[in-house]
Amino acid sequence: MANLDALIDDLVTANRILAHEGVVDSFGHVSVRHPDKPDHYLLSRARAPDCIEPDDIITFTLDGTAVDAGDRKPYIERHIHGAIYEARPDVHSVVHNHSPSVIPFSVTDVKLRPLLHMCANIGHEAPVWDSRDKFGDTDLLVSSMEMGRDLAKALGNRRTGLMRGHGAVVAAPDLRLCIYSSVYLEMNAKLQMQAMAMGKVKYLSPGEVDAVIGRTGPYSVNRAWENWCRRAGRPFIPQ
Ligand code: MN
Repeated sequence: MANLDALIDDLVTANRILAHEGVVDSFGHVSVRHPDKPDHYLLSRARAPDCIEPDDIITFTLDGTAVDAGDRKPYIERHIHGAIYEARPDVHSVVHNHSPSVIPFSVTDVKLRPLLHMCANIGHEAPVWDSRDKFGDTDLLVSSMEMGRDLAKALGNRRTGLMRGHGAVVAAPDLRLCIYSSVYLEMNAKLQMQAMAMGKVKYLSPGEVDAVIGRTGPYSVNRAWENWCRRAGRPFIPQ
């Protein structure tokens, strides 16, 4: 139980960090797979990430059914999380956001690719999922497991995927790495647009991307996490 309480606290911190680092605004969310019950995940009730408290966290089964919601209203797009956990046993944390610099790459033919060493964790290239291909004209919200599964299929085994005219998903083996990848996804997108405006871009090579991913661990993630906790006014607990 202490373990679960600590994880819920980390999830609250994760929400606050995403808000303070400009990855989410009033919308967007982050979840973790339940540490003892892998067919469940933890996600806040529908609330802006910077406002989230431990009491907002609800437990869901992978099909999006709330186990302990009471009168708390869940996010409509919770199916993004369940569908990715269902498809990816390696994934223990999922972020969905409308990260502003990422959006242009979801509506053009330009591929989002890492060009800064800190951003290699976004993966080699982000695929774009277009809800319209299979579901036609919708409000673009991933409001069913059918849509969530289609998105998870497009994501495949990758760390990041874009959603046309909507946002992005980030799927990682743990919560802090998921936040780390989400922050640097936004940064890479912004830098890529700036670099493209100047001329031909020299991206990281596939070997460089693999080398950075292989080296990323507590040394890098703890250093960033401490800084982000300070900025978000949250206590830092090293991992
Ligand atoms: Mn959304």
